[in-house]
Amino acid sequence: MTYQELIGKIVALQDDGLELFNAGKSVLGKNLLATHVGEYSGPQILIQGGIHAREYITALLLVRMARNLFLNDLVHGGGIYFVFLTNPDGAELVLDGLDAVNCDITKTYLTAANGGSQDFSQFKANINLVDLNTNFNADWGGGSQNVFCPATEDFVGFYPESEREVQSLINFTLQTRPMLTISYHTKGDVIYYGFENMPAENLMRDQSIGESFSLYTGYPLIFTENSTGGYKDWCINSLKIPAYTIEVGNSSLPHPIGEESLDEIYEQNKDIPLIALEKAKEYANQIDFAIAFVQNNSKGEKHAKSNEKGYYARLKSRLDGRSSRWRGDS
Ligand SMILES: [Zn+2]
Repeated sequence: MTYQELIGKIVALQDDGLELFNAGKSVLGKNLLATHVGEYSGPQILIQGGIHAREYITALLLVRMARNLFLNDLVHGGGIYFVFLTNPDGAELVLDGLDAVNCDITKTYLTAANGGSQDFSQFKANINLVDLNTNFNADWGGGSQNVFCPATEDFVGFYPESEREVQSLINFTLQTRPMLTISYHTKGDVIYYGFENMPAENLMRDQSIGESFSLYTGYPLIFTENSTGGYKDWCINSLKIPAYTIEVGNSSLPHPIGEESLDEIYEQNKDIPLIALEKAKEYANQIDFAIAFVQNNSKGEKHAKSNEKGYYARLKSRLDGRSSRWRGDS
């Protein structure tokens, strides 16, 4: 598969009537393609994939989920945002190799970080050699595997939220105010929940919701330890919302997990978006999209409190305003 073929599968959702918009930009200026299924009123959830370069199969998983939910009109009383591929620059490097890079200095340092090899199939970072899922401001730099120098994986960045993809996902999250988020990764068939020092009541809530995901997928639910700076960690720590990392693909499979595994992964996860939305509704009075939002977006919060319908109408028109037909430009 080439990078253009991957993007082509996301863009093809428009042929089925889904509307794509832009959740932000990558370092190299690629669009972070997103869609919304369901209604803009009621609880929203956000599902993102492909934040690690070699895990681009998760973008294809989200494409299938979104198409199924939309074509069968399955989402009511709330909505689901999908951000398909949070690290497009990295995915392009994995899929197309150094030919995708049009700058000799960049090629040189990427190759150096890659141990001199031109095989980038195991690459996880973004084009700046930052591991995006360690760059969020949630006990940043405190993970047991973190490294502090540019690398193909595990480099936390020179400071938290240094990367454009991370800033984009944060802004998009603050703007769309999900009550729950799910991050799809590979591999291992496990679900991670929780974060250090979270309040006991949130821990119980998040464990209970996570158990329903575990029951459906058959993946064990595991409390996160010794891992920090992830999107899920930031959602739990700063926004106080339930957030999960789901690692798909059997641990015996090599990275990157190929399309031949997609049918099985999809079958195991197909209804997770619906279960997540139902749980967001069920726990709505125990989920307070919190402090970080009030500090950064007090205007939006005021709208939401005073006139929720009006807020979502404005949000929809803002998103509509950004959308146009994407042609897999970037
Ligand atoms: Zn990952």
